[in-house]
Amino acid sequence: MGRNPGQPGLDYEWAEVVLASVKASALCPFCGENGWAPPGDVGNLFIHLTAVDLEGTTLRDGGGTGGMLVYSWACTNCGFIRLHSHAILEEKARETGTELS
Ligand SMILES: [Zn+2]
Repeated sequence: MGRNPGQPGLDYEWAEVVLASVKASALCPFCGENGWAPPGDVGNLFIHLTAVDLEGTTLRDGGGTGGMLVYSWACTNCGFIRLHSHAILEEKARETGTELS
């Protein structure tokens, strides 16, 4: 696993380092295990959460898409899926000096 050179900024190993730097718990909130798998065969996919209004219309902000890119991991024991905002991890990385190289 690791960084996909075709998608700059996408690196699950880096995301795990940033999460550790802010002391995020790695234990599954449902089963208490600590085994996580990112999506895709090589762990190189983001999940895009789309923001919609009550009618289901996709919302947009500033001409871009409404929503956010997130890293996701599934608990390898119970299947619980956790999400972490890419934008927030980038911000924390700048604060803690763990920026992508
Ligand atoms: Zn679990």
